[in-house]
Amino acid sequence: MSGLAGGAVPVVGLWLVQAEPSVRLDAVFATAAHLGGLLAGYGILVMLLLMARVPAIEHGVGADLLARWHARGGRCVLSLCLAHTVLALCAYAAHTGIDLLSAAIDLMGYPGLVAATAGLALLAGVGVTSARAVRRRVRHETWRAVHLLTYSGAGLAFAHQLAGPDLVGGPLAAWLWTMLHTTVGVLLVWYRLVVPVRQALRHSLRVIEVRSESPDVVSVVMQGLALDALRAEPGQFFRWRFLDRRLWRTSLPFSLSAPVRGDTLRITVKACGDHTRRIRRLRPGVRVLATGPFGALTAHRRTRRKVLLLAGGVGITPMRTLFETLPGDPGDLTLLYRAGSADQLVLRQELEAIAGERGAALHFLLGPSDGPFDPLAPRALRNLVPDLHEHDVYLCGPPGMSRAAVTALARAGVPSSRIHTEQFTF
Ligand SMILES: Cc1cc2nc3c(=O)[nH]c(=O)nc-3n(C[C@H](O)[C@H](O)[C@H](O)COP(=O)(O)OP(=O)(O)OC[C@H]3O[C@@H](n4cnc5c(N)ncnc54)[C@H](O)[C@@H]3O)c2cc1C
Repeated sequence: MSGLAGGAVPVVGLWLVQAEPSVRLDAVFATAAHLGGLLAGYGILVMLLLMARVPAIEHGVGADLLARWHARGGRCVLSLCLAHTVLALCAYAAHTGIDLLSAAIDLMGYPGLVAATAGLALLAGVGVTSARAVRRRVRHETWRAVHLLTYSGAGLAFAHQLAGPDLVGGPLAAWLWTMLHTTVGVLLVWYRLVVPVRQALRHSLRVIEVRSESPDVVSVVMQGLALDALRAEPGQFFRWRFLDRRLWRTSLPFSLSAPVRGDTLRITVKACGDHTRRIRRLRPGVRVLATGPFGALTAHRRTRRKVLLLAGGVGITPMRTLFETLPGDPGDLTLLYRAGSADQLVLRQELEAIAGERGAALHFLLGPSDGPFDPLAPRALRNLVPDLHEHDVYLCGPPGMSRAAVTALARAGVPSSRIHTEQFTF
């Protein structure tokens, strides 16, 4: 992230080279507007890059963290766009001595400004539907459809940037700016369109089994061709689109709940909404489009010989895969699996078999989250794993549990650099 933030420095440099110092009010507004506009343009580019699903970025950072950076960055970029607009209006009004409304009407005659206004309206629409209070109320598909307008907004803003004074003023700057946009555009098309289509054609995935694991959890086993070529690592997830009448419209993220075995992949899904409930009714033979792998909760994060895997609820899926595959001698691996009660545990027999084969410790931490005993309190964790401070910790669970566990682990002496988490929300 610091690298991307550092990219703003040459952008400010571009502004500095062209800024003409003046104390006239219109010039001060105009100079500030140019800086805001350049930073907003760069910010839009960074937001698009973060969501381009470039493997090096996805695997290095993790999709959930990228999504959070994107959400936070998006708010800053929108604020910069709005500040740029208001400052430019004020500059024009101060220069011509007219009111803001007349200035706005006049400015529409300038090159690229109708496009810029439309682009700003689209970006503002995306911002509004992404605000937490609104997003909670709209369906994921609606939010996503509106979010796709970002591409049109960014395209319109780009047209305006090329027509703007800073870039038009310098052919080299305009060329570099165009190259940066072209590169990000190519990455977007490649990783969000070409790669998924190629994967779909190459792997021909189909559901072969839907197995009940508990009253609200099923495992879906899929068969396909050349799955080695996916290079999926334990702990990673794919975005799955089941080409069934009720599910084809959406692609849903699920972690692999078992390592890739020959020609099969497996996910384990908890029914918590409309789509996940429909997965239970999938029939063998349904075709599946899988895009990925994504995610950074893999063996690459490991820094210590000893590893504690800490799972809550359906967060067990990536942990189950890591439990089987992380290299280690007997005594190196511990899995703590938190659930409300024994009947909510899934994949229990597999976990017990892996623990037995590998000489790994396995503890089920059962009981309601608001019960009198907290099995994730620092002392309770130290009782189960006495040398906890010597471990790397991989953590995946519901947001409340994850927050509590991170705090408890820190208090038990595990530095944050050794706590590797993934959240099941973007
Ligand atoms: C990286 C990752 C790995 C995951 N792995 C697993 C797993 O192994 N097993 C499992 O049971 N669950 C997993 N989940 C959670 C699972 O993706 C959601 O529970 C599921 O998408 C909810 O869909 P729904 O329509 O049934 O629920 P809804 O009630 O419609 O949605 C519940 C919430 O899920 C999120 N969501 C819904 N649709 C999508 C979508 N298309 N893309 C992204 N988020 C969406 C939204 O934040 C929404 O608020 C994972 C999530 C992520 C981000």
